[in-house]
Order: sequence, then C-alpha cells, then structure tokens
Amino acid sequence: MRRAAVLGGSIAGLLAARVLSDHADEVVVLERDDVAPAGDFGGDREPRPGVPQGTQMHALLDAGRRRIDHWLPGFATELVAAGAALADTGTDVHSFLDGRRKVLTGDIEMVSATRPFLEAHLRRRVLAFDNVRLVNGRVRGLAFTGDRVSGVRYADAADAEDVLTADLVVDATGRASRIGTWLREGGWPEPGMRRMPVDLGYATALFRRPAGPHDATLAQSLANLPDGRLRLGTLGRVEGDRWVVLVAGYADDRPGRGVEEFLLRCKEDPAAPFRQLAEDGEPIGEPVTYRHPDNRRRDFHLLDRFPAGLVAVGDTLASFNPIYGQGMSSATSHASCLATYLESGQSPRDPAWSYFRQARTVVDDAWQTSALNDLKLPHVTGPRPRGFTVASRLSDLIVRASVTDPVIHRRFLDVMHMRSSAKTLMRPGTLLRAAWATRQRDTGRVDAAV
Ligand SMILES: Cc1cc2nc3c(=O)[nH]c(=O)nc-3n(C[C@H](O)[C@H](O)[C@H](O)COP(=O)(O)OP(=O)(O)OC[C@H]3O[C@@H](n4cnc5c(N)ncnc54)[C@H](O)[C@@H]3O)c2cc1C
Repeated sequence: MRRAAVLGGSIAGLLAARVLSDHADEVVVLERDDVAPAGDFGGDREPRPGVPQGTQMHALLDAGRRRIDHWLPGFATELVAAGAALADTGTDVHSFLDGRRKVLTGDIEMVSATRPFLEAHLRRRVLAFDNVRLVNGRVRGLAFTGDRVSGVRYADAADAEDVLTADLVVDATGRASRIGTWLREGGWPEPGMRRMPVDLGYATALFRRPAGPHDATLAQSLANLPDGRLRLGTLGRVEGDRWVVLVAGYADDRPGRGVEEFLLRCKEDPAAPFRQLAEDGEPIGEPVTYRHPDNRRRDFHLLDRFPAGLVAVGDTLASFNPIYGQGMSSATSHASCLATYLESGQSPRDPAWSYFRQARTVVDDAWQTSALNDLKLPHVTGPRPRGFTVASRLSDLIVRASVTDPVIHRRFLDVMHMRSSAKTLMRPGTLLRAAWATRQRDTGRVDAAV
C-alpha cells in the first residue's frame, strides 16, 4: 500500500497505525484534537475533549498488555518506569464480592495508570515509526471511487476542507462514529447498530495517601444491593504517587458530584480498602462524573454490500459496559485481526469481509461477558437471548465459587482478562468443580477468604 489513513488517534487508532506501519509506505492518523507533542493536548496528564471518558479510571487487562508489548516491545516496562503500577492477581490485585475478598491466584498482570498517561506513551511510541504521522484534522466524510473507498474528506486546523487519498481507510473515531452516515452518503447501506441500555454512572477521583502498607495495588469491589442492583468500586495506584478511585452505580443509584458524597460511598463500601481510603486518602480536586447510557455494536458482518478499502476498529465496532475494562484490550485484538487480514495477501480491491468476520468473533466474546451480566440487572430490559436463565444461573455459580476456589477463580480471571473465551466457563468440568466448591463453602468445610 502506498498510503493508509487512520481516522481517530486514540487507543484503537494508534494500534491500527502501528500494525499498518508494516504494510504501507505511509500511515496518516487524522485526529480532531491537537495531540501533536507540542499541541494543546500533547501532555500526559490532562484528559482531552475528544476522549471524554479519559477522566475516568482505566485499567489495561492482561491480554491487552501482552498484545501491546508484542507490537511495541517493552511498552509495559516503560510505563512502570515512568510511574505506572503493574499489578499481579497472585499478590496485589484484590477482588471483593459483597465485602469478602476472593482467594488470590495467578500470574495475570494488569497495568494501572491514568488514561491520558497511557495514551500519551502509546502515541509517542507509535509516532516514533518513520512512516507514521499525525495530522490535526476533523473527518467529514469518505471519498469513493467506483466500488471502493479512495480517501477521506476532512477539515484541517484552519477549517479548510481537503481530501486525503488512501488505499485503506481505518475508522477509529469511537462509539459516536459517523461511519453509517458516511456510507449512506456514498450510496452504501449502513451497518445495523445494536444498543443495550444499561444507564451506568461513574465518578472518578484522584487521591494522595500517606506512605504505608496499603496492601493492594489494585482493589475491585462488587456489592449486591438488596433490590438486585450492583454497586462497584475500583481503586489503583497510578503514576505521580497517586491513587485513582472509581465508584459506580446504575440508574438512580448513580454517584453524584462532590467530594463528600464520594467519600460517603467509599465508607459505605463493604470492601475494607475503600473504607481505609475514606480515612487516610486526601482528595486531589473534585471527582468527575460520567454517564454511560448504553453498550453498542455495529454489525458490519451482516451487511450484504460494503466498499473495498474500509475497515473499522475499537469502539466504532463495539463499546461495552466499561466496568469490565474490555475496551482497550478489544482494540488490541482488532489490531491483531487487522494484521492477519493484511498478511493474508487478500486484494485490497475486495471488501475486507475476512477482517470483519474475525473481528466479529472477538466482539461476540466480549459482548457475551458484558451482556450476560448486564441483563441480570433489574433495570435492564431485554431482549434476553434463549437459554438466558440457565446461563445466568451457571455464571452466578462460577462467580460464587471464585470467592474460595483458586482454580475456578483463575479460570474466571482468564476470561475477565480476555485470555480465554467466555465459553470455557461453561465446560462441564468447570461447572462441576464450581458446584463442589460452593457446596464445600456452604457446608462450612472451606472458609471464605476475608
Ligand atoms: C467510563 C469509561 C471507562 C472505561 N474504562 C476502561 C478500562 O478500565 N479499561 C479499558 O480497556 N477500557 C475502558 N474503557 C473503554 C475505552 O475508553 C475505549 O474502549 C478505548 O478508548 C478505545 O476506544 P477508541 O480508540 O476506539 O475510541 P476513543 O478512545 O473514543 O477515541 C476516538 C478518537 O477519535 C477522534 N475522533 C472522533 N471523531 C473524529 C473526527 N470526525 N475526526 C477526527 N478525529 C475524530 C477522537 O478525538 C478520539 O481521539 C472505558 C470507557 C468508558 C466510557
């Protein structure tokens, strides 16, 4: 390829650009925020307008960490050297279910850092490739020649419209992508969009804490409220000797603004690390709230006509309930699917069906994890798939068993960290072991970890 154009220079766009740098003479990333090293949002501390979720807690799961290290060797080490934390599920990631700490297991490592910091490091590494460059511009539409996409229409920093020709265009403009409209303008059908309203509210705050034996680098708390709803909390050590803390709830249990309310929710959390934080943490600034109305996915694979020279990655393809932390790791999987497609030697004159088929399996898996759990929430209305009641009972069994049984917890973590397919938890051997483990616990033969 002579030139590939990537629309959107966030996590998914940067990873796609890295993959494309092996296959194109030139890769141009078009980004509406001025994120060039000397630009308005080029630093590694401040969230930027184009990524409003950047104010919220973001952790990088094990699968995503490994894949980024594959494309950009030494990336995680570099983050840690700059102050991020690497947390190991066998020692310093503590998960709580209704206040009870789950048994520690595994050697699964996740990165805890603020989102702007992680993105700034990724940008620096990707832009270090000679054939990748970033252009500050706002995409307005696609350019078509015959049955293919031949470029992008965009407004430059001075608002003058230009066209960038490209052999391949990658849409990484996120969940609010206008790709459907752009396709329709070119006479092509729009991909259907599935939405699952979840009405989730987040609040994230930064804290300083006195040096001391805070025993977890990362702690996660899931608490069932009496009416069947869930409350969530996560706290993690991040760069700059700070702690990032998230509290979340659904529908009218959303956290509001203000430090007092934030600290009250931490005090009410049944998991000890949150109560400790409410005592010894010193808030830095005000908490920032964020509302996630729905999970959504675009079903490109169901279209019967699609132009050549166009693919989509990241949240454009699917955006999940953020409490599972799957988004950035999904983007790394899409980058791997893109690499497989480019290495397959398929003609760029044909639509990239094989890419969309492969990406669909990645999306299906993450969607299943998120949807199965979200559909259990009382305020989330269907449609519930066939077999939902049985699948939901079996998944509850696994979650309960993961509190005390290290083997089940390990298999559960493998799925949550996107190292194994969600289907592996439904294997008869795993279900039998989970049933045995919960029975042992219920009959008092095994103490739940505290
Ligand atoms: C509250 C919240 C918490 C989350 N927590 C986690 C977590 O813990 N772990 C995790 O892995 N994921 C998490 N995610 C998901 C994660 O933020 C995304 O999956 C990830 O950022 C990948 O998104 P993306 O690159 O596809 O899109 P985005 O990050 O949304 O970026 C889209 C980019 O496209 C640019 N853009 C948009 N339109 C145009 C245009 N017309 N022209 C030019 N540029 C344009 C934007 O400026 C932006 O840079 C969370 C999400 C939310 C909402």
